Amino acid sequence: MKKIISALLAGTLAVAVLAGCGKSSGGATMTEGKLIAGTNAAFPPFEYIGDDGQPDGFDIALIKEIGKRLGYEVEIQDMEFGSLVAAIGSKIDVAIAGMTITDERKQSVDFAEPYYDATQYVIINAGADIKNAEDLKGKAIGCQLGTTGETVAQDAEGASVNPYDKAVDAVNDLVNGRVDCVIIDKNPAEVFKNNFGDKIEIIDGAQFDFEIEQYGIAAPKGSQLVADINKTLEEMKADGTFAELEKKYILGE
Ligand code: GLN
Repeated sequence: MKKIISALLAGTLAVAVLAGCGKSSGGATMTEGKLIAGTNAAFPPFEYIGDDGQPDGFDIALIKEIGKRLGYEVEIQDMEFGSLVAAIGSKIDVAIAGMTITDERKQSVDFAEPYYDATQYVIINAGADIKNAEDLKGKAIGCQLGTTGETVAQDAEGASVNPYDKAVDAVNDLVNGRVDCVIIDKNPAEVFKNNFGDKIEIIDGAQFDFEIEQYGIAAPKGSQLVADINKTLEEMKADGTFAELEKKYILGE
């Protein structure tokens, strides 16, 4: 009897060890064969809801291609931007959301190599007198909740910061006169300029001394996914796929 029990125990241990190995190396996702990518599909051109009602955009196309090359079936989960970091490793395997690599976020997650440069832009109503950091003092500033835009807005002395779940709601409130300006990343600002036309102007964050930011794909701390994603990103840059996606979604060529 004793022998049988120890044999059984040894078997269980072997399975447990094997399962453990699977997690720390190849099978790096929560569900085998599947890569769940979280995003906030309200940040064009990186992520938005397409005409078919499904998430689309540069980041979505990028993670689908990365997943495919790594042999995963990719599932996109659309959620609030502010919930993404906490969901990594529990509800989602990775986050791809025009997410700036910051020291604060790096305390909870690991980032793959940066894949895009960005800076915060300031959107104002046409003709409004906001030109530099000094002019932001005491203003009502719209931004997207939980973003680096919100952090930058908070740095403006005496400003009232108005965070929104969706950036487009902030821009609507700007046009309606409820906020004086909106601080958001460069590329979405350019998309809003196209959509809102002459009503608004966009100003390069360099005029406000905003820092250059870099976007990265976030994964659980210590995850094998980071190295896998980095390798795939390099391949996609080398074979021209990355540039093609950039042309299609960002440069609009
Ligand atoms: N790049 C900004 C950040 O990481 C905004 C991202 C977003 O709104 N999707 O905070």
